[in-house]
Amino acid sequence: MTEALFRENAYQTETEATVLSSEPRGIALDRTVFYAQGGGQSGDQGTLVLEDGTTAPIVNTVYDADRATILHVPAEGAALPRPGARVIARIDWDLRLKRMRAHTALHLLSVVAPYPVTGGSVGDAEGRLDFDSGEAVLDKAEIERRLNELIALDAAVSHRWIADAELEANPGLIKTMSVKPPMGTGRVRLIAIEGLDLQPCGGTHVARTSEIGPASVTGIEKKGKINRRVRIALGPA
Ligand SMILES: [Zn+2]
Repeated sequence: MTEALFRENAYQTETEATVLSSEPRGIALDRTVFYAQGGGQSGDQGTLVLEDGTTAPIVNTVYDADRATILHVPAEGAALPRPGARVIARIDWDLRLKRMRAHTALHLLSVVAPYPVTGGSVGDAEGRLDFDSGEAVLDKAEIERRLNELIALDAAVSHRWIADAELEANPGLIKTMSVKPPMGTGRVRLIAIEGLDLQPCGGTHVARTSEIGPASVTGIEKKGKINRRVRIALGPA
């Protein structure tokens, strides 16, 4: 099992770690700053620095079948560290920050468009959410204006953990109909955007909404009878 440091501090870019297992399909560490693919957010990329100074490029990060061990997928032909070795795990921070900004922007988009979310994807400084918006008309310019208003509020983003039972007693917290938050471990991670939003989420977010920067709504598409897909894009950090 891997200690997931990104859940407590999304701004930590590297850590020392011990190799648990090492195969071409993935290198497992006892702790990591690499976000493992899930919840619509891609797995991190970066490098492992081995004891002899050589580096293994990491092209993706995924959960192993046990959902508790995180596998760092090495580039083809990369040098594999031996089990028990100490390594430094370092993420591609530029890429991660783009995803943190996009992920947080999507939380705000779900505030601006207050409809049940049926799907979504966090990209690199861009992303999309699918809404079950019924008969509502989604106005591109209005959504963009309000989204930027919320970003400019510079609201604090924080997380806390609650017991599964508490979430079950408050099902209104769950905005995503298709992707239920991971339960069964006894606790669920809640992301709060001060005064604006509270929802279960396992992803990585910026600490204040102003870090998202200017956002534009790049498209609103019809996906089936009742679903609307809203795409957003962010400017440079
Ligand atoms: Zn989130």
